[in-house]
Amino acid sequence: MIRVFQDEDHCRYLLEAMAWPKGRICAACGYRGSIALMGRQNRRRARSGLYQCSNGVCRSQFTVTTRTPLHATKLPLRVWLSGLWLMLQSDKGISSIRLAEALGVSQPTAWRMGHALRLMVGREQALDGVAKIDGLYVGSKPWREMNYSPPGRGRKGEPKTLKTPALVAVQRPPDLSVGASAGETRAAVIEDLSESEADRVLTEAVDPKAHLMSDEWKEFVSLGGAFSAHDTVHHKARKYARGPVHINSAEGFNDRVRRTVSGAFHHISPHLADLYFNEIGFHWSQRVVTGQAPRRTRKGRQVTK
Ligand SMILES: [Zn+2]
Repeated sequence: MIRVFQDEDHCRYLLEAMAWPKGRICAACGYRGSIALMGRQNRRRARSGLYQCSNGVCRSQFTVTTRTPLHATKLPLRVWLSGLWLMLQSDKGISSIRLAEALGVSQPTAWRMGHALRLMVGREQALDGVAKIDGLYVGSKPWREMNYSPPGRGRKGEPKTLKTPALVAVQRPPDLSVGASAGETRAAVIEDLSESEADRVLTEAVDPKAHLMSDEWKEFVSLGGAFSAHDTVHHKARKYARGPVHINSAEGFNDRVRRTVSGAFHHISPHLADLYFNEIGFHWSQRVVTGQAPRRTRKGRQVTK
């Protein structure tokens, strides 16, 4: 696959086909008509891949990377496409050091490339259907400082942990037949565990027509009224499922985040965590429903697993 990316023009055609499946769109005004500036009057006046908008008031020149995370890149497109390929074909992501080795660029370059690519795989549409929400903490214990006192164990006015909280929304697969898509996720870092922060993330991530499922956390409970339906499970009372009501796949996504961080990245900065959530969510959405495989136990009993 990497060999396919060797030719620079071929890479550009691939990228253009991905970015503009229905024809070129001007990056400045969104106008659909444009002309190629390359090879005009049989003389190469401009670099290949440069287009000009045909909108009379706009007339701006653009390429496939204009106003994207790849804007004004000095790296060849083959490096970008190979990087994207390596990132997407690894199940739990790829660290910048491994990416640098594979692409022949420096580690800081690979690190920045990773973030641009994560920005590109992000999705914005709000989740509909059944959306399960849960909290998550990212980051590790900060280094102890001189006047350090452990985070208050219930001491008034002090947070219980110094880690950064995040909010996760996971869509239940709309179609449970084998081979269907396994649903999408949205996740974002929040400043604190307040209702306003939870509200900010949820309005963006989840459609008001969705059926919300959460645990008993009181901010979720009070926000649930904004959605068409809201069910909770009481985790403190060790009740994890009530028929179809559970948030187990949200917990599953949280665990995938933890495994990805400990397995591939080792550390993620809380202020960049949203980008990592993009990537992990993309990997998550690429799974398919495999259904339940029937299996016979040693005693001959039929179980599904
Ligand atoms: Zn334009």
